[in-house]
Parts: sequence; C-alpha cells; structure tokens
Amino acid sequence: MIELSYLAAAVLFIVGLKRLGHPKTARSGNGLAALGMLWAVVVTLIDLGTVSWGIVIVGVVIGAVVGAVLARRVQMTSMPELVAAFNGFGGSASAFVALAETLRADPSTLSVETGITTVFSVVVGSLTLSGSFIAYGKLQGLIAGRPIGFAGTNAINLLVALTTLGVGVWATLAGTMLPYWILAGLGLALGVLAVLPIGGADMPVVISLLNSASGLAASSAGFVIGNSALIIGGALVGAAGLILSVLMSDAMNRSLANVLFSKFGGGDASGPSGDAASVKRATVEDVAIALGYADNVVVVPGYGMAVAQAQHALRDVAQSLEARGVSVTYAIHPVAGRMPGHMNVLLAEADVPYEQLLDLEESNPRFSQTDVVIVVGANDVVNPSARNDAGSPIYGMPILDVDNARTVVVIKRSLSPGFAGIDNPLFYQDNTMMLFADAKVALEGLVRAVANV
Ligand code: NDP
Repeated sequence: MIELSYLAAAVLFIVGLKRLGHPKTARSGNGLAALGMLWAVVVTLIDLGTVSWGIVIVGVVIGAVVGAVLARRVQMTSMPELVAAFNGFGGSASAFVALAETLRADPSTLSVETGITTVFSVVVGSLTLSGSFIAYGKLQGLIAGRPIGFAGTNAINLLVALTTLGVGVWATLAGTMLPYWILAGLGLALGVLAVLPIGGADMPVVISLLNSASGLAASSAGFVIGNSALIIGGALVGAAGLILSVLMSDAMNRSLANVLFSKFGGGDASGPSGDAASVKRATVEDVAIALGYADNVVVVPGYGMAVAQAQHALRDVAQSLEARGVSVTYAIHPVAGRMPGHMNVLLAEADVPYEQLLDLEESNPRFSQTDVVIVVGANDVVNPSARNDAGSPIYGMPILDVDNARTVVVIKRSLSPGFAGIDNPLFYQDNTMMLFADAKVALEGLVRAVANV
C-alpha cells in the first residue's frame, strides 16, 4: 500500500510537471504537484509509525509560514532569487538527511552502494546550498555581479573537485563519520568557488542548474533512506532543471560550458556610445498618432515592463487599439526579462489572450510587414548588434528583428543599456522613435492619447 501510494504521488508530480508546460494549465499543474508532495509526506509519516508528531507539526507550521510570507511578498522581478533560496534549502535538506541517516545507522555498517549515494547527497547538497546563496547575493547586488576570480580559478576548482573525489573514496571505505563532515565542507567550498567566477547576467541559468543539482541530491538521499517518492521526485527535478538550463543557454546562443566557465559579462554597464543627438525623441501624442493609424502593431515586452509593472496599462493600450480595428500581437523573446516565461506570466496576469503571443520564430518573418513595433522596456533582445556586429558580446544570440518594421517605438527611461551592458544601435535608426519615460506612466498616457486621435 505504501509503495502504491508513492506511485500515486509520482503520477501527480509527472502530470503536474506536464501541465506546467502551458500558461493556461500551469496553475493547476503546480497545485497537483504540491498535492503529490503533501501526499508523499503524509504516507512517509504513516509508514514510519512512531513519529514525534509535535516536532512534525512545529516543522510544518514554521515552513508553511516562512514559505507563504516569502512567496506573497516577493516581487515578480525577484523570482529568480526566491527560487535560488528554495534550491539552497532543498539541497541542504538532502545533505542533512544523508548525514543524519549515516549517523543513525553507524557508518561502519554501511554498504559501499549506500556510502556512494551518501557521499553524492552530502557533496551535491552542500554545493547547492552555498552556490545558491552566492547566486542570490549576486542578483540582489550584495555581491559584485562581475565574474570574481583570477587566471587560475578553473584549475583551483579542479583541484578541489579532485580532493572531494578522493575524500569521497575514503568515506565509502573508512566507515567513520569524519570524511563525511569534511565532504560537507568541501561541497560548500565548491559551490562558492564555482559560482563566484560566473557573471551576474548568467545567474538565472546557474540557478536553474543548481535546481537540477538539488533534485539529484534529493534523489540520491532517497536511495540512502530507501524512499521511492524522493528518488522519483528528485530525478524529475534533476532532469527538468537540466533541460531548462540547456534551453536558456541555447536562447543566448551559448553552450552550458561557456556559461559556467567563460566569465561572461563585466557586470559594469558601458554608457551609450551612439550619438544621442541623432535620436528621434517622441511625445506620447506622436506615438498615439503612429499607433492609431496603423493596421497592425506588434508589442515587444522586456524587463522594463516587469520593473514598471506596466502589463495592465499595456493591455489597456492594446484594447483601445483593437477597438479602432488595429490588429495587435505580442512578440515574446525566450530570455526577455529575468527568468524563462517572465513575459508570459505577466501578460497572462493582465488577461492578455494567449493566442496573441507569438514566439521568436513566428514573429521574425512578420516584422517586415509590420506598421509599428512598440518595444516596452526591452533592450538586449532587440539589439541588432547580435546579428550585425561580430565583435559584440551578444553576437549570435537570436534576437527579435524589430528593426525591419516600418516604424519602431521604444519606451524606456533613457539610453542606458540593458543587462548585457552594451549600447543598442536600434535607438539611433531613422525608423525609430524614442519615448523616454517609465513604461507604466507612458502607457497610461497612451491610453488617453489614443482615445483623442
Ligand atoms: P534588458 O535588461 O536588456 O533591458 C531592459 C531595459 O528596461 C533597460 O535598458 C532599461 O532602460 C529599461 N527599463 C528599466 N526600468 C524601466 C521602467 N521602469 N520603464 C521603462 N523601461 C525600463 O531587458 P530584455 O528583456 O531586453 O533582455 C533580458 C536580458 O536578460 C538579456 O540580456 C538576457 O540574456 C538576460 N537574461 C535573461 C534570462 C531569462 O531567463 N529571461 C536569463 C539570463 C539572462 P532604462 O534604464 O533606460 O529605462
């Protein structure tokens, strides 16, 4: 009955994960997976029989309150930091489970197989803890975003990794607790050493990879304590996190190895290098006229829309245009914003019909027949240097080719660069109008101005 119940929990995880693949079903998918986890926890507690219920209930209450408060208060733009913290806690929980089980069972009685899985859980779990909090610090600006390290960083990391391997062998053969404690320390050191040399811009990919690591640590902790729900759940997280990391690297036209070891991104933004005088400044009224008389408009949202929380005002502008017979669609770049699906989530929150959202491949052939593209707080994802300038750090990254449209309107506050820290030639093009303003203020003004056109 217990194993069958775990199987039911695993089915809930898998169906939940599958439903996360579409914004319409994602919310229920999340609920199903959470239900599977609750079910697995309850079944485990019943299976244990003699449980200190007082301690369990206190743990559940503390965890639930901390989780609920964090999730309610966190800004949408800080979601990667929240995920980093959750990964760190998840990894450390797996390391603690493996260490506690080894202490309880007496290390000298462990089989080699259990020894190996324990070593893996302790190292990967501790690495996930320290690596996730370094990533958190970089995203919050508590630690410098630039790659921190020196010429021999990769060699030192390799040395620490080899030492960890050696101590791991010692742990499995020695049958004492000491090497396990040393492994926990080495794992913590590895997490710090591996993440510090990676630039802040790549932290979302690192967090996704650490998410995968926390899943693998949980899965191997499942082998240590013989719990199949933990093995399956951990393996699903491990696979999903790895797939997501690869997809994110692909969207930036980089390999995962390049993200991890190339020290990409200075973190220090360079100012605009183009001639600011050649920029065409527009007023809200100018933009309203361009939009109001267009046949078709494509909206390109970016990180600035998220910061300004302008998605509701954007939907209002789109609705007022549609009321005039203008066709409106949205072009969504896979790494617009600061996490995968960032724009989709915000636009869904504002009830923008999902059918109007087009991905990069669908959007690019359409721009040459588009009257007006309106870029709302996006920058790197519409930077033509990625296509034209072989010396650019983002050269080769697939971008939305908005520069091919008849007119481009860019709403942002200044000529400042985006996350990659580089200037954008789009702003100086003849067919580009710059509306310098906070995205929400500008779009609210546009709703009124379009009504007067
Ligand atoms: P960018 O970071 O390139 O640019 C955002 C722009 O928004 C800035 O230039 C800023 O200009 C503007 N902005 C900020 N606040 C406001 C505001 N209140 N109102 C209006 N504009 C505002 O964003 P993109 O979405 O174009 O690109 C995402 C970047 O993040 C890419 O480099 C991508 O590789 C990277 N990244 C994304 C990941 C993901 O999963 N989505 C993962 C890893 C990296 P100004 O200050 O002048 O207003």
